[in-house]
Amino acid sequence: MTLALDGGTPVRTSGWPAWPPPATPEQRALLLEVLDGGQWGATSGTKVSEFAAAFAGSVGAPHGVCVVNGTVGLFLALRALGVGPGDEVVVPAYTFVASATSVVLAGARPVLADVTAGTLHLDPAAVERAVTPRTKAIMPVHLAGAPADMEGLAAFGLPLVEDAAQAHGASRHGRPAGALGDAACFSFQSSKAMTAGEGGIVVTGDPALHERLWSLHNVGRRLDGGWYEHPEIGWNLRMTEFQAAVLTPQLALLDGQVHARERAAAFLAKELEAVGGLSLLPGPDGTTRHSRHLGIVRYDRAAFGGRSKAAFIAAMAAEGVPLDAGYRSLSREAALRPHAGETSCPVAEAAEDSVVWLRQNLLMADEDALADIVSAAAKIRREFRSQPEIT
Ligand SMILES: *Cc1c(COP(=O)(O)O)cnc(C)c1O
Repeated sequence: MTLALDGGTPVRTSGWPAWPPPATPEQRALLLEVLDGGQWGATSGTKVSEFAAAFAGSVGAPHGVCVVNGTVGLFLALRALGVGPGDEVVVPAYTFVASATSVVLAGARPVLADVTAGTLHLDPAAVERAVTPRTKAIMPVHLAGAPADMEGLAAFGLPLVEDAAQAHGASRHGRPAGALGDAACFSFQSSKAMTAGEGGIVVTGDPALHERLWSLHNVGRRLDGGWYEHPEIGWNLRMTEFQAAVLTPQLALLDGQVHARERAAAFLAKELEAVGGLSLLPGPDGTTRHSRHLGIVRYDRAAFGGRSKAAFIAAMAAEGVPLDAGYRSLSREAALRPHAGETSCPVAEAAEDSVVWLRQNLLMADEDALADIVSAAAKIRREFRSQPEIT
């Protein structure tokens, strides 16, 4: 069968589910309620504080502070924990750049640590090498929707700030992401599993930390203080009531959506393995719910006639299956170098050439569509092996 790339018929010509999904009647009603009610900001309306309480409750971390986005949420959590100039925070090298830039925003130094080959999650052994007397916190990233190895990281006795931007609905040893560290940040940016276009939340189980988070996100005010009383420096990082209106109804939908992705992941894990040369990365041991925000798939070039990952992505796209190349290792981001220094993170760097991503909307497609992913991969493997890369 000729590859679509070479003029053959594509495996799939229909599209993929949209993300975000179409707005629900409840979202429309709440949005109009805010619009017509005239209380658009969180200092006058109640939707943001109600959503913060509901979301925090849903992850078993009783306090939540909604913010403008996830990056700022990480910054806020770090500052509330007292992280600032002269301090270091250990961040994994395989993550979205914001995990590290939020540390820079807080005035501290991100120290990159490598990830484990099996899961691409922060490797406690690499953290051990990265920790110094200046280390003030560790930022485990719940990559792709699987919680990091929190017990392995807790061993360092440092505050843990969960970057849960990808982990809405995930759990580890039965405990939800968000309740596994000192504070956790979720993102509601367009691509995330719950979204208002932009937005974020910081949750914590610690009432004193919550007071600091609240104050810092609300121009240094105190919970029981006056409007023009600012006992400390804080910023306006507040979410709008519009965002809370769009987000609130999604809480009830999340479980079903994660379930759909879990099923798709189980199917693909098995079927891609059968194709050969492709394997869906599992979460770290102890993952009890992988929310599959991303399906990260290891691409074994040798099993595909030596053809590069870029060639595979291009061939899959032509067959109608859009894959993503994923992150570059943060150790290779020139912009971070003045802050993070020169670090080598061989596992994260190798992942650049050896993993591809399925975005969450692909994992929410129906069975026929999932079967198309497998057929396209099998077709490409056959063709690549029949015309191997000449080296
Ligand atoms: C999306 C994301 C962020 C940043 O969230 P924003 O809301 O886009 O600022 C941080 N860390 C990770 C791992 C993310 O995926």
